[in-house]
Amino acid sequence: MSVADESIAVAGLVNSQKLACTSHLLTRKGAEIRVRVHSIPGRDGGQALIFGDIGRFPAPLVRIHSRCLYGDALHSDDCDCGPELDQAMDMIQRADAGVLLYLEQEGRGAGLEVKAEGLRLTQTEGRNTFDAYRALGFDPDYREFDTAARFLTDQLGLRSVSLLTNNPDKVHALRRGDITVTRVPLITEPRSHWAREYMEAKRIHRGHRLPPFSFRRIGRKIEQTCFTLGVVATAVAIYWAPRELAVLAFITLVATAATWHPARTSIRLRLRAWRRQLTQRPHNAPTPVI
Ligand SMILES: [Zn+2]
Repeated sequence: MSVADESIAVAGLVNSQKLACTSHLLTRKGAEIRVRVHSIPGRDGGQALIFGDIGRFPAPLVRIHSRCLYGDALHSDDCDCGPELDQAMDMIQRADAGVLLYLEQEGRGAGLEVKAEGLRLTQTEGRNTFDAYRALGFDPDYREFDTAARFLTDQLGLRSVSLLTNNPDKVHALRRGDITVTRVPLITEPRSHWAREYMEAKRIHRGHRLPPFSFRRIGRKIEQTCFTLGVVATAVAIYWAPRELAVLAFITLVATAATWHPARTSIRLRLRAWRRQLTQRPHNAPTPVI
């Protein structure tokens, strides 16, 4: 698809010419995806990144992400912002299309300094992140997502989206803006004690749709047990059964492991990148101009 075709695919866009001028390829985890960029005006504005041809989907993937310097840029283990953004981008890349609205709402809209003060209270007094904000005289969450909803309808012409989020406030904001929302959960594993506490606080105090960690532990146990049984069954099959059956058992085991192994997304994206390298035009081919 040419750049011109892609700009047309973004129905209702006010400044499609400007958007088309930003169109370029972005390489991530070894795979390329076309992206266009647009600034979002307003108090909590930021940047809209439109990946691929979202016009192909009746409800394209959308991630509304609030800026988190620690999680997004420094890859801090103490919150789930970075892993959520990473997982959302993996899903957009797999679909080859989607929208990322990256909003300037650091520290839930209170800024990095307040966030840092809150973290200090969390670590010294054991307060959860929302109580820490209250103790400092701030609201737990200053963010609003109505601007993002307006951008999706007025600038991108979207009336139906698959929203990558666990946050009910984002879902409600888009529905208030007359957008049909199908919520797509983002389930990440906490990488530190602090991240686990943060995610539990979001679940308990703000109604985020996250499974309790007790359930997660049970789920992981079931996965590990199934995998162990698979290994044993394969060993038995190799010893006792005909060779064809043993090969079949081994393939089933590998396929099962591939569905939950953490490296699966990276492997899939790399395979896609290799396939594209074989089938697509060279990178230095001239970019179409409209
Ligand atoms: Zn964060």
